[in-house]
Amino acid sequence: MKSELHLCLVFSVFLTTLPQLDGTAIPNSKQERKKVLILGAGAAGITAAMTLYDQGITDFLVLEAQDYIGGRIKSVPFAGKNIEEGANWIHFLEEKENPLLPLRDKYNLTGYLSNFSDFCMRNDSGQDVTDLRTYSEWKKVSEKLFAMGKKRGEEDHPPRDMPVSVALKLLGWISDTPAKKTLSWFDLDFEYGDGEKGTSLNNMGFPPEKDFFVTDQRGYWTLFSDFYKSFQDKILLNKVVQKIRYSNDSVTVVTAGGEVFSADYALSTFSSGVLGSSFIMFRPPLPKWKREAIYRFRPVYFTKIFLKFPYDFWDDHEWIMHASQKPGNFPTFYDLNRPGFFPGSNLLFTVVTGDEALRIEKQSDLKTKKDVMDALRKMYGNTIPEATDIHVSKWSQNPFVRCAWTDPVVGTSWGHYENMSGRLRNLFFAGESISDEYYGYVQGALFTGRDKAVEITNCIKGGACKAYKPAKEEI
Ligand SMILES: Cc1cc2nc3c(=O)[nH]c(=O)nc-3n(C[C@H](O)[C@H](O)[C@H](O)COP(=O)(O)OP(=O)(O)OC[C@H]3O[C@@H](n4cnc5c(N)ncnc54)[C@H](O)[C@@H]3O)c2cc1C
Repeated sequence: MKSELHLCLVFSVFLTTLPQLDGTAIPNSKQERKKVLILGAGAAGITAAMTLYDQGITDFLVLEAQDYIGGRIKSVPFAGKNIEEGANWIHFLEEKENPLLPLRDKYNLTGYLSNFSDFCMRNDSGQDVTDLRTYSEWKKVSEKLFAMGKKRGEEDHPPRDMPVSVALKLLGWISDTPAKKTLSWFDLDFEYGDGEKGTSLNNMGFPPEKDFFVTDQRGYWTLFSDFYKSFQDKILLNKVVQKIRYSNDSVTVVTAGGEVFSADYALSTFSSGVLGSSFIMFRPPLPKWKREAIYRFRPVYFTKIFLKFPYDFWDDHEWIMHASQKPGNFPTFYDLNRPGFFPGSNLLFTVVTGDEALRIEKQSDLKTKKDVMDALRKMYGNTIPEATDIHVSKWSQNPFVRCAWTDPVVGTSWGHYENMSGRLRNLFFAGESISDEYYGYVQGALFTGRDKAVEITNCIKGGACKAYKPAKEEI
């Protein structure tokens, strides 16, 4: 109750600090009205802008809250290298239609094909507990699990969804040892951002088979660098959208700085974390069917921690798994010191997900370094050197992202997918969280940005431009 009251107070302060937030009156835009406003300059927004431009629609602006282009694709300097804070792998290399592959080849992007079976496993007493028999048992079970998920997703989409934990039991697998929990973590939490209990069987499908880990010092975003060369001046940085008013013939947005922009159409590319946070005030308020879809496509958390050491002391394997008594306690380390990565760098990379990711992202890097060192000392003994530097990605703390990616809750139907993607009058939606097939991945952002820009172009050019009728949830 107390926190609700606090929220109310914060909200009313927020209301009074924004110009003309409610009612029918809204400040007149001093800017010339545009054909399209694109909200957000991540992969989805930039792809949408390029698609409009290529189709001859040049009267648009891209409004981006942060001071850079790329959103969740961002490389930062660390210990003499540029490392990726967000997306790192190009997934689905086995798919011929993958649009990222020709771009990777065009820029000759350097990287490494991850080998997920090159691993060892250590426990909290430092013993090597690599057990290939349990691993192969897990691989057989997980293959069946993914096949079951794919089949049900295609043929038996709700009402009969179930958590993966139930499906695993049906397949005869129980994660009842630290080693088994770690194997399950690697295929579920590491891939989907949630574990056995939270992951929906019907929505999981097949995991990517071949993944390319980008090490290129120009950064992952290089793939998109040519997309906006012709219209860089249309991308306005540091424009924090706080209010969106949408109707059947226009969309007006108000920024934190009080600037007002309007256009015939707008495309939101905000993450599920932002959409579900009430940071943006929509007028009229989002209808229930849209809000339900947004809450179902919930944000998940994945924290990347890079460590620099004076020398390399770890096992000679690509992946060093940690079968800890404490679940989620730095379950895997990725050896970046290897040939193909950053040889001689003495860099190690670890990941935490879910609540552990939220905990780590809130605390100081010093405390995180201590937590990782405690885990590594259990695995390798007290004589290992202290890490000399650390970098922790903190996307959950970034008000313009608030998550790593999106994962649908158990029981989410195709109707919810459609409602997540459906337009509200002249306000369209794109981004990773809107994709029915590639949510969570860079591809999802790219495909939805492209497709929604085509829809908007049709509307502008007088082609098919149907209003959206909310889908039945049970389909
Ligand atoms: C740690 C991490 C690891 C990942 N690893 C991979 C991976 O290996 N492979 C993979 O394929 N994908 C990965 N992803 C997911 C991938 O990065 C995203 O799916 C993709 O980049 C999303 O692009 P987007 O355009 O949909 O959203 P975003 O990149 O989030 O773009 C939205 C933009 O909107 C802006 N914005 C937000 N609020 C406002 C506002 N109020 N006003 C104006 N602008 C605003 C944001 O600043 C942002 O630039 C990872 C993500 C994270 C965080």
